[in-house]
Amino acid sequence: MSNLSDFPTNPDVVIVGAGAAGLGAARKLVKSGRSVLVVEADRRVGGRAWTQTDSFGSPVDMGCSWLSGSNRNKLAKVARRHEFTLVDHTDVPTALFVDGRRATHEELTAYDTTGAMIEKAMNRAGKRGLDVSCEDVIPKGLRFAGAVKAWMGPMDYGVDFKDVSALDDYLSADDQPSCIVAEGLGNVVAMLAIGVPIALGTKVRTIDWSGKGVQIETSAGTIRAKICIVTVSTGVLASDAIRFVPELPVAKQEAIHDLPMGLLVKVPLLFDGARLGLKDNEWMSYDIPETSPTRACFFITWPFGYDYVFGNIGGEFGWELSRAGPEATVDFALQEMVKQIGSDVRKHFVKGLATEWATNPLTLGAYAALRPGCHGARKILQAPLGDRVFFAGEAMGGRRCALVNGAYESGRRAAKELCKLT
Ligand SMILES: Cc1cc2nc3c(=O)[nH]c(=O)nc-3n(C[C@H](O)[C@H](O)[C@H](O)COP(=O)(O)OP(=O)(O)OC[C@H]3O[C@@H](n4cnc5c(N)ncnc54)[C@H](O)[C@@H]3O)c2cc1C
Repeated sequence: MSNLSDFPTNPDVVIVGAGAAGLGAARKLVKSGRSVLVVEADRRVGGRAWTQTDSFGSPVDMGCSWLSGSNRNKLAKVARRHEFTLVDHTDVPTALFVDGRRATHEELTAYDTTGAMIEKAMNRAGKRGLDVSCEDVIPKGLRFAGAVKAWMGPMDYGVDFKDVSALDDYLSADDQPSCIVAEGLGNVVAMLAIGVPIALGTKVRTIDWSGKGVQIETSAGTIRAKICIVTVSTGVLASDAIRFVPELPVAKQEAIHDLPMGLLVKVPLLFDGARLGLKDNEWMSYDIPETSPTRACFFITWPFGYDYVFGNIGGEFGWELSRAGPEATVDFALQEMVKQIGSDVRKHFVKGLATEWATNPLTLGAYAALRPGCHGARKILQAPLGDRVFFAGEAMGGRRCALVNGAYESGRRAAKELCKLT
C-alpha cells in the first residue's frame, strides 16, 4: 500500500478519489505525460466498485455488478483483456411470486403488460421534455404496479418511483446486452489502478483554489498542483467533509442539492447448497402493494451458480433499514424470502451481509438521483471552477449517469478537457 509520503507532492494534477472516475482520469493523464497523483481516503481502490471475497468464499459484488452495453462498454474491454468471465444477464427470466406461490401464466402476462404500459407512459412524457415525477405520468390502478414500480424506482434509481424524473429517465441510455462478472466487477475496476500513482488512506479535507493552482490539505499533508479533479459522490460533497476555499458558487451548491444520493442496499444471503426451487441467474420478485416508501426486497438468485442469492432494497425504506443496521436488514430480506418460498429458507440459510453505503462517510448513499424538476443540475455540477478545479463521477456520467462506465467516461472526459488547457 502506498502512502502520501511515497510520492512527490507537487504533481501537475491531483485527483481526489480512486473510484472508476478517478482512475479513468488518471490513466488518461498518465498517458498524456502529465504528472498525476490520486489521493484516496480509503485503504483500497475502486470506491463503489468493490468485490468482497472474505465472507462467502466466492466473490460478491457489494457495489456495481452489471456491465451494461457490454459490447461497447470500455470496462467490459478491460475485463476481457484481463480474462475475467463475463456472463450474459440480459432479459433473464423473472420468478414472480404471488402470496407465497408461483404466479400463473395469466399473472405473468399481466405483470409484463403493466411493465410495458408504465415504461411507455414514462417514455412518452420524457420525449415531451416533461421533467416531472414518473408517478404523475403513468396510468393508475394497474395489476402488479407495486412490483413494477419497485424495480423501476428503488431497485434501479435508488429512490422511490415518485422521486424519479421522467425526463432524466428518458435521457438515460438503456444499453444492452448486460453482463455480470464471475470474479467480480469490483476486481475489474481495481485493474485500472495498475501503473497509477495512488496515495491510499489519504483523506482530502480542504481544496484551496483561491490562488494560482490548487492547494490540497489532506490527513497526511499538503499537496500543491496546477489542477485538481474531484470525483467524490454528491453525498460527500453535500456533507461538507471537503471544505472549498473560496466556497463553491451558489449554483454549484444548488446542483449538489438537486442531485441527492439514492440508496440501493444489497443483501447477499449464503445458503448451504440447497436451491429452494430457484434457478441460477434469475430475478425473483413478488406482488406488493403500492405503498410509498416501497417495502420490498427483490433478489438475484444463485449468480454464476454460487451458493448465495442477493437481495436488493432501495429508496426510503433502504435508508430506514440502514439506520436500523445490517442485522435488521438481513432479517427483513430473509423474512421476505420465507413469505414467498416457505420455512425451508431458514433451514438452509447460513449467513447474510448487508452493504453499508448509506452510512459509509466516503459515499453516503449508492448513486445520485436527479430530483424531478431539476434538469440541468448535472451540467452545472460538471462545469470546472476557474479552469483549475474539475468535477467528475457517476452523477456526471451523461447518458450513463449512475453507472460505473458513466463514472469512468466522466473521468476521462475531465482529463481530456483539462489537457486542452495545459
Ligand atoms: C449497491 C450499488 C449497486 C450498483 N450497481 C451498479 C451496476 O450494476 N452497474 C453499474 O454500472 N453501476 C452500478 N452502481 C454504480 C457504480 O458503482 C458507481 O456509479 C461508480 O462506481 C461510481 O464511481 P465514482 O468514481 O463516480 O465514485 P466512487 O466509486 O465513490 O469514487 C470516489 C472515491 O472517492 C473517495 N473519497 C471520498 N471522500 C474522499 C476524501 N475526502 N478524500 C479522498 N478520497 C475520498 C471514496 O473513498 C471513493 O473511493 C452501483 C452502485 C452501488 C452502490
